[in-house]
Amino acid sequence: MLGTSLREAAAALRLGQVSATELCQKCLSFIKESSFLNAYITVTEEVALKQAAEADKRFSRGQPLGLLDGIPVAVKDNFSTCGIETTCASRMLKGYIPPYNATVVQKLFDQGAVLMGKTNLDEFAMGSGSTDSIFGPVKNPWSYSKAYREKRAVNHHNAEKESDWLITGGSSGGSAAAVSAGTCYVALGSDTGGSTRNPASHCGVVGLKPTYGLVSRHGLIPLVNSMDVPGILSRCVDDAAAVLGVLAGHDPQDSTTIQDPFEPFKLPEKISMNKLCIGIPKEYHAPGLSTEIVTLWSKAADMFENAGAKVVEVSLPHTPYSIVCYHVLCTSEVASNMARFDGLEYGHRSDVDDSTEAMYAATRREGFNEVVRGRILSGNYFLLKQNYEEYFLKAQKVRRLIADDFVKVFRAGVHVLLTPTTLTDAAPYLEFIQEDNRTRSAQEDVFTQCANMAGLPAVTVPASLSSRGLPLGLQFIGRALCEQQLLTVAKWFEKQIGFSTLQFHREIENDCIAQQHNKSASSL
Ligand code: GLN
Repeated sequence: MLGTSLREAAAALRLGQVSATELCQKCLSFIKESSFLNAYITVTEEVALKQAAEADKRFSRGQPLGLLDGIPVAVKDNFSTCGIETTCASRMLKGYIPPYNATVVQKLFDQGAVLMGKTNLDEFAMGSGSTDSIFGPVKNPWSYSKAYREKRAVNHHNAEKESDWLITGGSSGGSAAAVSAGTCYVALGSDTGGSTRNPASHCGVVGLKPTYGLVSRHGLIPLVNSMDVPGILSRCVDDAAAVLGVLAGHDPQDSTTIQDPFEPFKLPEKISMNKLCIGIPKEYHAPGLSTEIVTLWSKAADMFENAGAKVVEVSLPHTPYSIVCYHVLCTSEVASNMARFDGLEYGHRSDVDDSTEAMYAATRREGFNEVVRGRILSGNYFLLKQNYEEYFLKAQKVRRLIADDFVKVFRAGVHVLLTPTTLTDAAPYLEFIQEDNRTRSAQEDVFTQCANMAGLPAVTVPASLSSRGLPLGLQFIGRALCEQQLLTVAKWFEKQIGFSTLQFHREIENDCIAQQHNKSASSL
């Protein structure tokens, strides 16, 4: 049951083949069995069982709330949840209990979704590995899959060694692992420079970043306000579309949300290929891109062409400037966002009380990790009066050029761009942390962050296994507010490429269970 899509689970609930409480209990026991993945920071068992019981009452009255009624979901731990600890994986917010729900969380609850827990992430969503959390790194469920272990001759016992397990990507690695391992049907992530799509690709799930302003950020603890978007991680494109339909729409609490009414959509099964134009950006042949991803990318382009679509090479000439531009803009917004954590208003407060300044400084030194502190320092440097024009203002102008590149390509008739999502498959943990996480984060986001700077919707779809037996995703980037078109194309591709993620999820579930059993057996 856990290895099914959200729609299948929703249908089974309606037919009474399974109760919401049974489904919830199965997920809870699987969360326990796969706890070594470190996907969850907080498991909300009590809340989940209560919500599931309420869903069952509604089912017995024949009055379910909506598609998500009784469906187990997880939420990244940077979304505020009323009465439930929200840490951003940081010492700074440890113990913080928000008094309200983020709008997206409330919308899930209004539909009857059952919250399994809050998922692990890089501190304050800064990173691409989910390795920088005060709760420890998240492990990729695929580290335990048969395919990977057979290729590397890793057995159950030594899969626990750091050298043998893989990162999930990040920063929404906990959400990606939670969906991939089958502990919930869908999870919320956040996406500022790729944090939903990157881990989704490494964990073999679908990751959707909606158009900026389509989904409310109210209650999402900000990283970069001008780029942050709540993201959706799911097992198939249809599920992501269904959840987007629930989350999207104007929110009076977020002035950047789009006012126009949002029409929930249903993705058609058929798509008329001969009216479709797919663009292949030539600058996305970036240094470090693995040859097997290049092969997969061109195979996907051929599939569209053979089906009758027009496939054209396009140029997004300012792409090479995006990493530096993102760095200046991101750190500048981080510096101003993080100013609120001063030991007075929110979170951690140091015992140092020599002076107010000393208390501020000690609070921030103790509360933030090195990555966060480094970004605050860079950002404040870029925002200095004498640097502002040379860095911040210039980066704003480059951002506009990057966004205009997309506008030109779409105006020339391209409907959707097809690109890689990541440079390689998931790296082993030790290899990943050997390199400075900041450098690695920057490189990893080369294919994803432009969509954030331009505010465009993008989705990664699992497409194949690498030669090491690990999932590889491909990304589609669409026109602003054209999610219907983007997801229809993504769904067609998902079907054609025939990489059955659901089947793999079932296998991973079994493998994770076997892994846990072996561990307990060997400790007897
Ligand atoms: N890796 C990027 C960063 O560290 C993106 C983070 C995100 O999307 N939250 O800034």
